[in-house]
Amino acid sequence: MIRTENLCKRYGSFAAVDDLNLHVQPGEIYGFLGPNGAGKTTTLMMILGIIRPTSGRVEVLGQPYDGSSFALRRRMGVVAEDAWQYDEMTAYEYLAFFARLNRVEQPGPAIQSLLERTELWERRQVLVGGFSRGMRQKLNLCRALLHDPELLILDEPVSGLDPNGIRQVRELLLEENRRGRTILISSHILSEIEQTAHRVGIIAGGRLLVEDSVAGLAGRLGEGQRIEVEFQQPIADLRSQLEALPFVLEVEGRTPNRWLVTTAMGEDQRPELARFLAGQGVLVIGMRLLERSLEEAFITITDAAVRTWAEE
Ligand code: ATP
Repeated sequence: MIRTENLCKRYGSFAAVDDLNLHVQPGEIYGFLGPNGAGKTTTLMMILGIIRPTSGRVEVLGQPYDGSSFALRRRMGVVAEDAWQYDEMTAYEYLAFFARLNRVEQPGPAIQSLLERTELWERRQVLVGGFSRGMRQKLNLCRALLHDPELLILDEPVSGLDPNGIRQVRELLLEENRRGRTILISSHILSEIEQTAHRVGIIAGGRLLVEDSVAGLAGRLGEGQRIEVEFQQPIADLRSQLEALPFVLEVEGRTPNRWLVTTAMGEDQRPELARFLAGQGVLVIGMRLLERSLEEAFITITDAAVRTWAEE
């Protein structure tokens, strides 16, 4: 669906994007992540043909793309960082205007459905100039979906949204994906990407560090498990004994009576841990296995890259 080959963007001697090979497959939600200044927006702008690459190639929907083909552009829906120039239109007029531009036949039902799904229908007659940042963000997404595109390219689509708005957008995107739409989404909200994306690409310093499924990324963090244990009373004196157990790697106190135990082995060590604690006469009131999070993977992978570059 999207393929970049050795894509580069240089500003003088600075490489904002450096030899990037990105593959977004048909039907997937692809989360594009990276720290501030990593090169995400520059990459998306090159994919859309808004910024010209210094070198390399972009293919969209199976064809080379530089932004000039209206036929290809019409098959995409885009949310980019927007300079708004439509403040004098109502939300409804705004969508109707873009529906005409994109030659949407009978736009009325599509506009109504999108405004309802984003809870903006009641505000359809309000001028866009009076919209909050979050409302504009949702309206932007409605505009991107209006012409029923096959491919969605979304730069930070949930930035500025409240929890309700984030949920509406998540549901909208999952629904569009179930209908077969491919989605490339960049975001700093990792919990969102974790809940929606099939695969993730992490970029830093303009280079792609990793491309994998969310579970695959978490798997890269190691085999052990993290078990959160809650005791009835604080048990500070047990720490060194816990650390001495053969399957325990690390013990971290989260609160005096809630600890995080990292184990060295893949299998579930909760029964062993419970046996040991019971033997010590400790009353355990809760024990829960923590999933490795995308946030943890993101920080580990980007930190490792930064350390490597500092040593180079
Ligand atoms: P953020 O998450 O903060 O939005 P990003 O990953 O989208 O960041 P980009 O906006 O793509 O990052 O910027 C990548 C790098 O390229 C940054 O160091 C930025 O300062 C630099 N850059 C972007 N545009 C230009 C430009 N026109 N001239 C010079 N440098 C630029």
